[in-house]
Amino acid sequence: MLPRQAWAVGTPDLDAMIPLGDCTAITVHHSGFPEGFTSSAMADAAANLRAIMEFHTSAPPKGRGWADIGYHFAIDPAGRVWELRSVKFQGAHVKNHNAGNLGVVCLGNFDLHPLPQEQFAALRKLVAMAGRRCGVLRIYGHRDLADNATSCPGAYLWSQLKSIKP
Ligand SMILES: [Zn+2]
Repeated sequence: MLPRQAWAVGTPDLDAMIPLGDCTAITVHHSGFPEGFTSSAMADAAANLRAIMEFHTSAPPKGRGWADIGYHFAIDPAGRVWELRSVKFQGAHVKNHNAGNLGVVCLGNFDLHPLPQEQFAALRKLVAMAGRRCGVLRIYGHRDLADNATSCPGAYLWSQLKSIKP
């Protein structure tokens, strides 16, 4: 797993973050940019993560105004796993459902294109690891929990999630 220092600039606002609590679930997202994301280059993935972080942490209306990037992990198209927000803290990835819920974002727009095999294999491994280490019991796609309709994590990825067991 690539550490946070491999991509991030700055430090999160720890005082504004809430402890994760007992981990019971993992929720899968896509980054969903309209132009998609298919590069397997490490530098492109790191730049993509910084762009997501900037959107999540910039003050509204430009961004979301969150204390840190919203997800705990990212998986790029080459299957690299990136450490994002500390798992000590709740994410900001499914409104009203962040307690005990790990958030993982797969870089790409899976309404536009299917996942590369390497990326899906890495997701499967990460979910298994979360199950062993944190006792994750359930796996969700963002759309399964969202109060407001969203296609996240994209039709292609969502249809594959039921084949993953935590
Ligand atoms: Zn999502």
